[in-house]
Amino acid sequence: MPTLQQPLIVVTDLDGSLLDHHSYRWDAAEEWLELLQQHNIPLVICSSKTAAEILPLQKKLGIDGAPFIAENGALVQLDPTERMRIPADSIAYAALCQTLSVLQSKYRFTGFHDFTDRDVSAMTGLSEADAALSRQRDASEVLVWRDSEEAFEAFRAELAALNLTLTQGGRFWHVMPAGSGKGEALRWLLHQLEGEPRITVGLGDGPNDGPMLDTVDYAVVIKGYSKTPVSLQRQDLSHIYHTTHYGPEGWCEGLDYFLT
Ligand SMILES: [Mg+2]
Repeated sequence: MPTLQQPLIVVTDLDGSLLDHHSYRWDAAEEWLELLQQHNIPLVICSSKTAAEILPLQKKLGIDGAPFIAENGALVQLDPTERMRIPADSIAYAALCQTLSVLQSKYRFTGFHDFTDRDVSAMTGLSEADAALSRQRDASEVLVWRDSEEAFEAFRAELAALNLTLTQGGRFWHVMPAGSGKGEALRWLLHQLEGEPRITVGLGDGPNDGPMLDTVDYAVVIKGYSKTPVSLQRQDLSHIYHTTHYGPEGWCEGLDYFLT
């Protein structure tokens, strides 16, 4: 097991992990956040949230300036001056919405682009101001599917032909560039970080966290509300811990387990 004295990086999902699924609070994790800071251990957010949502949150968490992964791994910010889409040649958000609007003539779905801030607020429980930040997107679209399951599979196939994929988040479906995702983004980010190799600890509660949790050295699977379980490819069971608690309590439980 690693110790706090070793060179570590902690990579974390937000909703349902560091943040409570319902209240978006992280009070239970305060003590651990301080401990990480005292030991200069970077905390890398790896979330489906947008960069616009993550930046103010980083400030509140006391980790502004740290690298982060946004939009489920379709966007990485290395430092405040360098932000890029993953993969680098993927289409920008406006072009993605254009592509999706063509598909709306065949399938019934609604994207964040089509919603108002008030709509998004009603669906998520976010304030309208925060909902506005969630609609400031760079690289992926969030959608609510309103068509049949058969249509969904046809839609998925059409997206694949356009080099796009679908990822399930905590509440919505995310249309992402092929070759992006939390795992790909994290591997790219770790490759960019210079200096000595670091031991990585990852924490997440959703199926979209699987690739990230397969990429880190130690994986904490936080008990979640998703109907789809988190499935990992890795077989090193001693490096995987499933928490008994939800959200920030589970987040602390996982760090307690691997980093005592
Ligand atoms: Mg989550």
